[in-house]
Amino acid sequence: MAGNRTFTMIKPDAFEAGNSGAILKMIEEAGFKIVAMKATRLTPELAGKFYEVHQERPFYADLCKYMSSGPIIAAILEKDNAVEDFRALIGATNPANAAEGTIRKIFAKSIEANAVHGSDSDENAAIEGNFYFSQLERVL
Ligand code: ATP
Ligand code: MG
Repeated sequence: MAGNRTFTMIKPDAFEAGNSGAILKMIEEAGFKIVAMKATRLTPELAGKFYEVHQERPFYADLCKYMSSGPIIAAILEKDNAVEDFRALIGATNPANAAEGTIRKIFAKSIEANAVHGSDSDENAAIEGNFYFSQLERVL
């Protein structure tokens, strides 16, 4: 059975552009509950650790630089079928391929600066939530 939690980040491009509020509004209106949230900033090392699975990819160095270039918002979200439904809400990695009405279609600037992150599995949602939030911050 699909889990009911996922993890998201509002990435530096969207935060810098002042789109955090509009994106959170779309997330809530799509039926997701925010169960933990904070504004923070990754160091290049922490960005590298978060995206470790991509370390062999040609875009990895740029991705670490970009993800540590400014503040982000990290949040744990709750909804039935959370991982799959959230990936549908954010749209394809490349905004050029994202469906109309999706967060990336509306807010992403490029395939790299693509406004939001969404976990790709229940297992990674738990790992990523634990990466950002201590047990005390995960009280809900
Ligand atoms: P995320 O994991 O951030 O939700 P995703 O699952 O849609 O995104 P991944 O394949 O996991 O996509 O890639 C992680 C991130 O790396 C992308 O969101 C994007 O910021 C960056 N990225 C992916 N592919 C490319 C690429 N071809 N060129 C530049 N950056 C890329
Ligand atoms: Mg991914």
